[in-house]
Amino acid sequence: MTTTPTPVSSTPATPVSRAPLSLFVLGTESDPHSERGVECPGDLPPASDPALVERARRAKAALGDRLFVLGHHYQRDEVIQFADVTGDSFKLAREAAARPEAEFIVFCGVHFMAESADILTSDRQAVILPDLAAGCSMADMARLSQVEDAWDVLADAGVAGVTVPVTYMNSSADIKAFCGKHGGVVCTSSNAKTVLEWAFQRGEKVLFFPDQHLGRNTAVLEMGIPLEDCIVYDPHRPGGGVSPEQLRAATMILWKGHCSVHGRFTPEAVDDVRTRIPDVQVLVHPECQHEVVLKADLVGSTEFIISTIDKAPAGSKWAVGTELNLVQRLAKAYPDKEVTFLEKHVCYCATMNRIDLPHLVWALENLAQGQVVNQITVDAETERYARAALQRMLDLPGRSAAD
Ligand code: SF4
Repeated sequence: MTTTPTPVSSTPATPVSRAPLSLFVLGTESDPHSERGVECPGDLPPASDPALVERARRAKAALGDRLFVLGHHYQRDEVIQFADVTGDSFKLAREAAARPEAEFIVFCGVHFMAESADILTSDRQAVILPDLAAGCSMADMARLSQVEDAWDVLADAGVAGVTVPVTYMNSSADIKAFCGKHGGVVCTSSNAKTVLEWAFQRGEKVLFFPDQHLGRNTAVLEMGIPLEDCIVYDPHRPGGGVSPEQLRAATMILWKGHCSVHGRFTPEAVDDVRTRIPDVQVLVHPECQHEVVLKADLVGSTEFIISTIDKAPAGSKWAVGTELNLVQRLAKAYPDKEVTFLEKHVCYCATMNRIDLPHLVWALENLAQGQVVNQITVDAETERYARAALQRMLDLPGRSAAD
C-alpha cells in the first residue's frame, strides 16, 4: 500500500484547485472523536461543504476517461453522486476489471474492496482509496496469522484434510490467498449457497470466515444443515474454544466474526416495528444475527434488497435491516412505498462513511495534478492465490457473481 504521492506519466490540460481541504490524511494527524468507531448518535454524519461539489466536478472533468469512480451502496450521498457505477463489493470489482482503459480507479468503499479491484485489474491501472482509514471491522476480525493457527488446530484434530476454507468477499487479500492455496474459494452474500454446495462436493466440512452470521444463515436456512452441526471457532481462545471432538463432529466451522453494522439489529427491533407499522414486511441482510433473520420476511444481499424494494407494489411497507445510507436513499427513491430503517437508532457504517467529499476531492485533485495518492496494491504472490480463489467463484455456474 502506497501512502505517499507518486508521480504519474502525464498531466491534464485543465488546471484544478489546490486550495487547502479540511481533512485528516491517515498517518499525518488523528481525530480522537472519530476514532471511537461506530456510534448511534441519532443521525447520519453531517454533509461536507457544498462548495466542494464544484471542485470534485472540475477535477473529475479534468481526468476524463482516465478516471473511473466506483461507489458502494453504503457510501454517503455526497460521494455517491460522483460514482460512475454503484453496486456491492463484487459487482464493483467486476466493473473495475471491465474498464481496462481507465488509468485510475477511485474506489469509494472500504479497503478490502479496493484490494479486490486491484487483484482483478491490470498492473498499469492504479486503484485509489480516498481515505486509508476506511477499513472494515469484519474483515479485521480474521487475520492471516489467526487463520493459519486455526488451520493448525484443524490439522491436529485430523480434519484439515477434509475441510474446505471459504472466505466471504469481506476479507483481506491475504485471507483470500490462504483460501486459494488451500483449495478454497471466495463467496458473496448473493452466492453463498452456490459456493457452499461447491465446497461440500470437495470436502466434508467448511471453515467459513470472517462472518459467522452469513455462514450460519446460509448453512441452516438455505442448505438445511442442522444448527447443532454449526460450531463457532473463536480465534481469541486457545484451540478456538472448541474441542477436537467438536471439530470432528461439526459440518460448518464458523469463524467468530461479524459486521458491526448488521450485527446490531435485534429480534426485538423486528417485534417493535411490526407493532408500530401494521402489515410491514421485514427485509434484512444475511449478515444479521440468525435470530433476526428467523423473524424477518425476506433475507438477501444488498442487491436483492434494492431489487425487492424496486419491484414492490406502491403502498407496500418495508422495514429494512441494512446500512442506513442505503435505506435512506431507498426511502427517497421510492416515495410511493414506505421504507423504514429497522432499528430505532442510527447505525451507519463508520468506516464506509470515512470516504467523505473532502477526501474524494483531495484524491481527485491530486490525480489531476499528476500525483497518485493512497494507491492500494496487493503483492504478486498474494494476488496470484487470491485471484485463484476468486476465479473458482467466477467459474461456478448460475449466479456466481454478486447480482
Ligand atoms: S457494513 Fe459491515 S461488512 Fe460492510 S464495510 Fe461496514 S463493517 Fe464491514
